[in-house]
Parts: sequence; C-alpha cells; structure tokens
Amino acid sequence: MIVPSLSQNDIDLMRADTPGVNKLIHFNNAGTGLALAPVLDAVKKHLDLEATLGGYEAAHAASADYNSFYTSIAALIGSTPAEIAYVENATRAWDMAFYGIDFREGDRVITGRAEYVSNYVALLQMKRRKGIEIDLIDDDETGQIDTKALEAAITPKTRLIALTHIPTFSGLINPAEEVGAIAAKHKLLYLLDACQSAGQIPFNVNDIGCHMLSGTGRKYLRGPRGTGFLYVSDAVLDQIEPPFVDLQASEWLDENTYRLAPHAKRFETWERFVAGQIGLGVATSYAIGFGMERIGARICALGAQMRTELATLPGVSIHDKGQRKGGIVTFTVDGETPDTTKARLAKHQINVSTSQASSARIDLPLRDLDAVVRASLHAFNTEDEIELFVRTLASKAI
Ligand SMILES: *Cc1c(COP(=O)(O)O)cnc(C)c1O
Repeated sequence: MIVPSLSQNDIDLMRADTPGVNKLIHFNNAGTGLALAPVLDAVKKHLDLEATLGGYEAAHAASADYNSFYTSIAALIGSTPAEIAYVENATRAWDMAFYGIDFREGDRVITGRAEYVSNYVALLQMKRRKGIEIDLIDDDETGQIDTKALEAAITPKTRLIALTHIPTFSGLINPAEEVGAIAAKHKLLYLLDACQSAGQIPFNVNDIGCHMLSGTGRKYLRGPRGTGFLYVSDAVLDQIEPPFVDLQASEWLDENTYRLAPHAKRFETWERFVAGQIGLGVATSYAIGFGMERIGARICALGAQMRTELATLPGVSIHDKGQRKGGIVTFTVDGETPDTTKARLAKHQINVSTSQASSARIDLPLRDLDAVVRASLHAFNTEDEIELFVRTLASKAI
C-alpha cells in the first residue's frame, strides 16, 4: 500500500503553526518537538483561566478540554479512552506498569538492545531487589531485535517482554507487531516503550498486541514538556497493581478499606499540570487531523533523504540500523567529536542532539561508538532545510 505523504499545503500550514521555524532549523524533535502555536495558545489560555478563576475552578470550567486528552490519545493508539492514564512523563508511565508487576525471584524479563536507559536501570534494580533475570536479545542481521532469538529465549519463567519501539539513539523501528504475535502465542505480558514512535509513525495497540504502552508529550507529539501517558489494556488490569495509590487512583471507603479506581485511572495521581494535559490533548488531535499515516510517511521519507545526502559527504558515517527506519538519523564526522559537530551546527541555528554511550550501554559500545550525532526530523521540516544542513556540515571551515 502506498501511503500518500502530506501535501505542500499541509506542510505550509504546519510551518505556519510552528513559530520557531522562522528562526532556526530544528532537527531535535526526538528531544523536544518544536512548539505548536495551537498548543501554546491552549496552555496559555488555561494558565490565564487559573489566574482569573482559581486553579480548581479553572479545571472545572475546562473539563471538556481536559477530558479530550483521553479521547485524543485513545484515537492515536487505538484504545478506549478509559484505558489511558495521564502521567507526567514517559519514564514514570513505564514505571507504573513495570513496577506494578508482582515479580518473584527467578522470573525472567525479555528485552532488547534498543531499550531506553531508564527502563534498563529499572530492570537492573528489580534484578537486585527481587532476583529477576534479564534475557537480553541480540539484533538480527538487519539490526532490529532478533524475533527468532526472542521466541527461543522464552521459558516457563518468562513474565514479561519489554521492548522499545524506536530507540532514542538510532533510526531503527523495531518490529513491535511481530513481537506482539510471539507474546500472544506464549501468553506473555508485553510492555512497549512508544516514547519516540508516538507522533512519529502510525500504530495501533490492537495490531501490536501490547498490553501496556508508555509515551511522552514533548517529543514527536509536540505537546508541552512534563506530560506523558500510559495505556493499560483492560485485559490485564487485574495483573498490574499500581505501585502507588492516591485519592485519584483509589476510593477510600472506610478506616480499613479502599477500592482501586476503574480502568487506567488507577495509574494516575491527582495533582498534575492541567494546562499541560490540555495542551497534550490539543497536540495529539492536531497530529490526528493531518493523519498519522501521512505524517509518518513524510517523516520516514525525510529521514531517508537525509541519509542519502549524508552518504555523499566524505568522512561522514551513518549509524542507523534496522530493516525499517524512521526520522531519527545518527552519524559521526571523522576528526570531530559529536559534541563539536553539534556546537558547529548550533552556530548556524541548526539544532541537533547527541547520544552518548552512557545512555546506550548495550548498543553503542558494541558498535565501537562513544557517541553519535542525532538529527531527528519531523513532518514540518523541509527538503531545503536538509540541504542547508548538509552544506553547513560539509563546510568545516565555517
Ligand atoms: C525520551 C525517552 C524516554 C523517556 O521519556 P520522558 O518523557 O523523558 O520520561 C523513554 N523511552 C525512550 C525511547 C525515549 O526516547
């Protein structure tokens, strides 16, 4: 199936809604997506409402906007709104699911080389605390998680598959659906870190077959910082005990009893950045309005264009792996550290980031890399911006 990409008109509209594009070239969307005017407006409007009405009163007055966060995220990932929890970032969202599993000594967790640093450290903590074992699955020859090796690693002690859909340090898109089919066949819990994929590529939790999924607001979804979400399927609700409960997550019935809130609400906390939640709802429905299929097609096409153009530069090595690649492009320049490359581009108002081995201990060192430059493209970026970036990169003298 050929997915139509965004039209020039769509791209012009997106750029008109992105004030920052007039001042810089933003290729750090895997860090934070460049702010969207409608999101900024919604956040500011709510902060003003809090100032004029009072915070609780403002939340009450804006309850429709506030609730549209749940319907928007549900529409994005194909769940029901009740299966969505608002969480302040993707790390805590993932934690609420992971630490909610009642691990016993000897339980095994399967994961891969794309796993996010904070997730992996949590696995190590659970190993120290409860004596779980980590089965780290290697890449296949294309660089994605080796699904055959993954299936072969399953034992009667396996409790969970924890996979990162798109790593923070590479263009790779992991085969989340294939892993889901294996999880279903062996009746295993499946937790997907969709922090970089939410807003970057289209996906659906029913097609993937994950039971839990975490995402952040500020990256490819272009929501406010300090916002995130967790999906927990109703099908596994009784297997995940929220590691913390409060008055939002539960109802206090009498001196000795409480009852957990229905559905994914039990993974929430009461106090939150209400303006941020509203903003993330707006950002998500903005993406849905253009269509995730089309946004994803454009981001992947821009990523491919950047790799093609970088490949023509002498002394530049591209480090993305995987059968399927998205809008994150990683590379190094001979004779220059990634930090120097980043600083040199910054002088020309071009934002890129770097990924360090200290955040990718089970990936970059294996490829003899201490660090890589990361240019992460979004649908509002243009072919011309890529060309200017490549020219700037090539002219080392400047
Ligand atoms: C950024 C990132 C996270 C953490 O997201 P926060 O919102 O900063 O907690 C988790 N996983 C991946 C793959 C990421 O890129």
